Amino acid sequence: MDKQMNYGSDYKYIPATSVGSGTGIQVLPDLFCYTVQIVNIHMVGDPNSNNFVLVDAGMPDSAEEIISAVENRFGENSRPKAIILTHGHFDHVGAVIELVKRWEVSVYAHELELPFLTGQQSYPDPDPTVEGGMVAKMSPMFPTEPINLGNNVKPLPADGTVPEMTGFKWIHTPGHTPGHVSLFRGSDGALIAGDAFVTVKQEYLYKVLTQEQEISGPPRYLTTDWKAAKESVLKLAALKPTAAITGHGLPMLGQLLTDRLEKLANNFDDIAKPEYGKYVN
Ligand SMILES: [Zn+2]
Ligand SMILES: [Zn+2]
Repeated sequence: MDKQMNYGSDYKYIPATSVGSGTGIQVLPDLFCYTVQIVNIHMVGDPNSNNFVLVDAGMPDSAEEIISAVENRFGENSRPKAIILTHGHFDHVGAVIELVKRWEVSVYAHELELPFLTGQQSYPDPDPTVEGGMVAKMSPMFPTEPINLGNNVKPLPADGTVPEMTGFKWIHTPGHTPGHVSLFRGSDGALIAGDAFVTVKQEYLYKVLTQEQEISGPPRYLTTDWKAAKESVLKLAALKPTAAITGHGLPMLGQLLTDRLEKLANNFDDIAKPEYGKYVN
């Protein structure tokens, strides 16, 4: 293991929370979603086995909480076989370095996301002027510098399979970030959508707090390519998922998911795309 790993110099604890913080939901027998402050991590695997992976790695400073949540579900000293990242934003990689050191596991991400995970490239600055509420306004404090996982991060296999996640395929869903991926299991329609779309209006703090359910496009203040983001939503809607867990908000299932996702796909520009903001045109 390459021990030379570091976060960016702007890495810091972010004081934000939601009602779901610190709680988990079993969405399917082998799919568990846990909320760290305002973001979800996902544990995929049978809780009676020790074959599981962690998808995404929470907020800065949340490693101990994530380790406890994992051990609560899979037993003391359990560790995932791999960590899969939907993308490299601070709220999805916040504890990844501590977790890699503790568990000595490999991390996988799309190859276009690797510059942000190997210290090469910062994300564009969040747009606090975008149409939206409080979370957008606090977004200038969000870390954007790349973390460096060294050779502990590897590209996802080119054949579409997901390491240690039998039955799942990764789907390139750029727009929110260049190398954003979603994970889909064709046998039962389970979808881990990351931030390609989310089930809470992430910009609005009261909706983040209460996790009021609706499907929105990707969080606005960090999304830089709205054309690609739309195509990604169309791609995911065409899969007709039966259960979706997203980076922010509660899991959504069945007919509600079908209806809302179709609505988002058909009205993306109205629902998702902000009226104004520096990345809009
Ligand atoms: Zn994101
Ligand atoms: Zn996010």
